[in-house]
Amino acid sequence: MAISSKMKALVYHGPGKKSWDTVPAPQISQPTDAIVKITKTTVCGTDLHILKGDVPAVEDGRVLGHEGVGIIEEVGSAVSNFKKGDHVLISCITSCGKCEYCKQQMYSHCEDGGWILGHMIDGTQAEYVRIPHADNSLYPVPAGVDEEALVMLSDILPTGFEIGVLYGNVKPGDIVAIVGAGPVGMAALLTAQFFSPSELIMIDVDDSRLSLAKKFGATKTINSSQSDVVATILAQTKDGVDVAIEAVGIPETFDVCQNIVRPGGHIANVGVHGKSVDFQIQKLWIQNITLTTGLVNTNTTPMLLKTVVSGKLAPENLITHRFTFDQFIQAYEVFADAATEKAMKVIISNT
Ligand code: NAD
Ligand code: ZN
Ligand code: ZN
Repeated sequence: MAISSKMKALVYHGPGKKSWDTVPAPQISQPTDAIVKITKTTVCGTDLHILKGDVPAVEDGRVLGHEGVGIIEEVGSAVSNFKKGDHVLISCITSCGKCEYCKQQMYSHCEDGGWILGHMIDGTQAEYVRIPHADNSLYPVPAGVDEEALVMLSDILPTGFEIGVLYGNVKPGDIVAIVGAGPVGMAALLTAQFFSPSELIMIDVDDSRLSLAKKFGATKTINSSQSDVVATILAQTKDGVDVAIEAVGIPETFDVCQNIVRPGGHIANVGVHGKSVDFQIQKLWIQNITLTTGLVNTNTTPMLLKTVVSGKLAPENLITHRFTFDQFIQAYEVFADAATEKAMKVIISNT
């Protein structure tokens, strides 16, 4: 056995409880598995949802985390794309590559995968992680690329791009509004620019996030706690926006989207909602609105990797704080208190 039998990991112990524990290190259990030594990982808004108890499928004792980069420590006998020592990007979505959903590139619904890391099986906030279906769930790190930047490609960039920008059908010249300037909203802001929209309006209640959004290409920002966002947008556009991207996950922000979209426009819901929203179908049907929802598939990861390699996309700009593994609890505290700490994405390195 190449790796030691024990390791350190961030373990969930029921709502509100987590600790940096010594736990058994993962072992190969299927021939399609790989064991990856994590070099850099991060914390997602979804990890905070889990800690609030919003994702009851996560059991006491689960190692959290579904993002990261690392080095292959060991591969199962059926893994052919990777070998010990390879540097890899871990996708937040595990995919077998063979089932009906995988064949449609709908990896989020893989019959033997989907979002399982840090959810149904132990995740990446640990010294080592077991990655099932390694051939399809890992990507080689291209030579010379900033590995920290790639951590942003495990989840948030594909999420903002696929579920926000692509499902929202952003086109050249469009007026696009993004509600929520967290990492996912910022990922939508960065990747919407591939399509040259004429306006990118960013909406949030946090002024420091809005000023960061300006640096990332927002043409306008609106603090919705200080002004009537719907009235402002309707006054500044002919009849609303072409695309409204919801990246918060509460009824209030879904409502903003349905009140600012113009006839023929798209509402792309990205936010994870814990309760139902008041969908105004009696008003919107006659306006030919398209509404989309979705869980990230990460089928665009190879394309996004190319944009990072070529320098078109610089996701490292989303990183505001850096920690080492022994400061994991502190990293969580800073990320959970993002407004006060002026935090966007945190990186935790195993050095
Ligand atoms: P986040 O909590 O960091 O960001 C949310 C932002 O919304 C914050 O900047 C906050 O200030 C802002 N906000 C809160 N209330 C607001 C209001 N009333 N009006 C305007 N802005 C408001 O979260 P994130 O990590 O950026 O994720 C955003 C959403 O996307 C979450 O719901 C997350 O669970 C979801 N998500 C979905 C997928 C998917 O596959 N669909 C994947 C990952 C994350
Ligand atoms: Zn996530
Ligand atoms: Zn599958």
